[in-house]
Amino acid sequence: MQELNRIRRLQDECPSARTIEELLLRAHKFPKVFREFELHMLMCTRCGEIVKRIRLFYEILEREMSEQPSPKIVQFAKTLEADVQS
Ligand SMILES: [Zn+2]
Repeated sequence: MQELNRIRRLQDECPSARTIEELLLRAHKFPKVFREFELHMLMCTRCGEIVKRIRLFYEILEREMSEQPSPKIVQFAKTLEADVQS
């Protein structure tokens, strides 16, 4: 079973930054795997640091996405669109 393999792997070694991001994004889908990672993270400063950096990245991304784009950028995008259609 794939989930069991993932849990076993987490007990043996640190996951890559990419795997950590996947674990965080799919926590609702694989709660047991996520729980195992949480336990690992509590004792592993490396993985704890990676989680902090991922969280910071998504906070910045969310802020950027919620702000209105500047009129200059909107105008530039319209120019590009016109070029593509002509
Ligand atoms: Zn670790």
